[in-house]
Amino acid sequence: MVLLGSTGSIGINTLLVASRFNISVEVLVAGKNIKVLNEQIKEHSPKVVVIADEKDIPSVNHSRVYAGNEAILQVIADSQSELVVNALVGFLGLRPTLKALECNKKVALANKESLVACGAFIDTKNIQPIDSEHFGLWYLLQDRPVQKMIITASGGAFRDWDIKKLQNATLADTQKHPNWSMGQKITIDSATMVNKMFELLEARWLFGEGHYDAIIETKSLIHALIDFKDGSTTAHFANASMQLPIAFALDKQMDENILEHVNLVKTGGLEFREITRDRYPVWEIKDELLQNPERGLIVNAANEAAIELFINKEIGFMDISKNIINAYEKFTQVAQNVDDVFLIDKEVRAYVRSCK
Ligand code: NDP
Repeated sequence: MVLLGSTGSIGINTLLVASRFNISVEVLVAGKNIKVLNEQIKEHSPKVVVIADEKDIPSVNHSRVYAGNEAILQVIADSQSELVVNALVGFLGLRPTLKALECNKKVALANKESLVACGAFIDTKNIQPIDSEHFGLWYLLQDRPVQKMIITASGGAFRDWDIKKLQNATLADTQKHPNWSMGQKITIDSATMVNKMFELLEARWLFGEGHYDAIIETKSLIHALIDFKDGSTTAHFANASMQLPIAFALDKQMDENILEHVNLVKTGGLEFREITRDRYPVWEIKDELLQNPERGLIVNAANEAAIELFINKEIGFMDISKNIINAYEKFTQVAQNVDDVFLIDKEVRAYVRSCK
């Protein structure tokens, strides 16, 4: 396989699954963590490696190393592998997704921003999502009339905080996720609930029109539920580990044991909560966005620009959501093609940066 984002949280878990099932790695793509990349090169012997920055090339222990975004596209096009695992973070992952699909590769997609920003122009037939909620929905779906598909959220780092203190929350505070260990950006997105909105959009593109919603389940043991028309509800339980969705994304016929089962007696009780707009202001646009999923492009661009400002301490935590809602109200145009997606993305980012 070709693995994009090998040194990240999903990338590292993907290599653990690959080792276990003897999946060979043709290409590794990483950013700046050359130490971890060198360990991965030693263990998986890729034919080609790509990193973010040219100046780091001499530190990489490999004879074929390239750098930069264009090189990522080139190695995808040149690769023999049928599978591309896209575990890059952010809008940066979109072009590689498009390139892999254009080259008729199967894409195991962790980079949810690809579908959020450009779902209208992506044929999902060759995409297998790496996300526990979509895996849960896929697992539960059967040939019966569905009323509603529900995904769960943990509530993120601030689910129990005093709401009045949220504006002053720091980057370090956002990273104290109660249940999952993930990359920096998705952990911020969990705290704002943007991550769950993105997953609802992802679900909409993957499973088609329908009724989608999300609730908080504080232990992250249930990942998805389906309300069937007849009044039955089924739930997908699994311990919080990305190795399960990753294993299925790499091989849909998976019949090995990947995780220990959830021990319900040990678990004791479960707690469910509503996602409220006072704690997660971005939820205000959720219904409208699900009616107009192509507008995810605006939300994604505004979110990434606002997160940059937050990390640079130019805005407070609650301003991330304010910026998103503000940009969502201002930008009403809809992309007509992929080129528009890149143009609108740029405009929205510039606008958010100018509003700080
Ligand atoms: P991380 O931040 O942990 O990893 C991101 C990866 O992208 C790293 O390998 C990083 O390299 C690499 N990268 C960043 N910039 C560049 C660049 N310019 N060129 C090449 N490589 C680059 O993120 P996660 O693994 O948490 O998330 C990845 C994606 O998966 C996101 O879209 C996220 O929403 C999604 N996802 C994550 C889940 C999780 O459990 N973590 C669950 C479901 C979805 P380096 O570190 O070397 O700089």
